[in-house]
Amino acid sequence: MSVKEIPLSRPDITDLEEQLVLRTLRSGRLSIGPMVEQFEKLVAAQSQCRYGVAVNSGTSGLQLVLQSLNIGPGDEVITTPFSFIASANCILTVGATPVFVDIDPVTLNMDPARVEAAITRRTKAIIAVETFGNPAHMDAYAQIAARHEIAMIEDCCEALGATLKGRPAGHFGRVGVFGFYPNKQITTGEGGMVVTDDSRIAEMCRSLRNQGRPLPANLGATPPLEQVVGGTPMGSWLRHERLGYNFRLSEINAALGVAQMRRLDEILQKRQDVANLYFARLAGNPHLILPTVLPGTTMSWFVFVVRLAPSYRAEERDRVISGLRRQDIGTADYFPCIHLQPFYQERFGFRPGMFPIAESVAQRTFALPFHNHLTAAEVDIVGQALDVLIGQENLTRA
Ligand SMILES: *Cc1c(COP(=O)(O)O)cnc(C)c1O
Repeated sequence: MSVKEIPLSRPDITDLEEQLVLRTLRSGRLSIGPMVEQFEKLVAAQSQCRYGVAVNSGTSGLQLVLQSLNIGPGDEVITTPFSFIASANCILTVGATPVFVDIDPVTLNMDPARVEAAITRRTKAIIAVETFGNPAHMDAYAQIAARHEIAMIEDCCEALGATLKGRPAGHFGRVGVFGFYPNKQITTGEGGMVVTDDSRIAEMCRSLRNQGRPLPANLGATPPLEQVVGGTPMGSWLRHERLGYNFRLSEINAALGVAQMRRLDEILQKRQDVANLYFARLAGNPHLILPTVLPGTTMSWFVFVVRLAPSYRAEERDRVISGLRRQDIGTADYFPCIHLQPFYQERFGFRPGMFPIAESVAQRTFALPFHNHLTAAEVDIVGQALDVLIGQENLTRA
């Protein structure tokens, strides 16, 4: 008997999402409307920020943030090599130079001491990533940034709902960016959100996402329909003050986001429950290192990433991954180090050995199936598969 496939991730869409999307489709207003505004308010409130600026992806949000801070050629930006590629690519997109620092092997976020040591006269910002939804050290990075009068940008794309010492993800830096790709805690299909207390950054992001239109046009409430569908151009609609983009989020995507945000507490709780199932099932496997959640930290579970003990090699991890896939269990090698991606090596001369902790971790990590509807029985199937596969790896190594 073949086991039913257990996917790596799966969005959680209910009647509420369907109703709001349908209502939006029937409203006749498919872009620049009340849903985007509502979604911005909900995400800003969740992260205790004054402004939210919805964009069409986390990646475009990061780009707009760097541009709003005037970061460009000649500037250095400090970030982690152990992340999804977008958290470093945004630095290249604006022509600045990424400066990687090694990670703390416990939390998998940047080691704060190394962040401070990497600051030079050319450092303009720190991009701090809440890896896999863990907000550890965010307060430390913020203090370092304040001390050196540089900006801290929170790439909180993986951390909606996480808290550190009672403060929510998105609130630690001068500005934060969330992402809503379908494997994230909440999804809009594609989408992202810039959150900040800084009105200048919010206004600039609004202008840049909307073809460089003048700021006042981007500040107020929803403009009248004829202004956005190409009827009589009113006021400043056809004025473009800077090189901008179309990074807008559609009303349809935003409607999905509004429904998901209304269910956020329920979604986060379900994910915590699934994480608890994994902790209980996998705790007895001595070859696996499970996520560490430090005191004062509430994870927002983005994925459930485990790693093999330090004595294992990448090839053994890869065999565990293929073994899981053969049994239709979704898994991925989150994350290969960014500095070892081919174009980073070519362009900057990065080589293996430069960030040994991140590299060692990256060779042994893999993500397990993780979504809101994962059952205890499925977690047990994954646990059994791991027991067998890692047992075999033990034999081949002995
Ligand atoms: C998901 C993610 C992003 C943004 O991804 P998009 O697919 O562009 O929305 C950025 N940084 C990190 C760390 C992410 O996990």
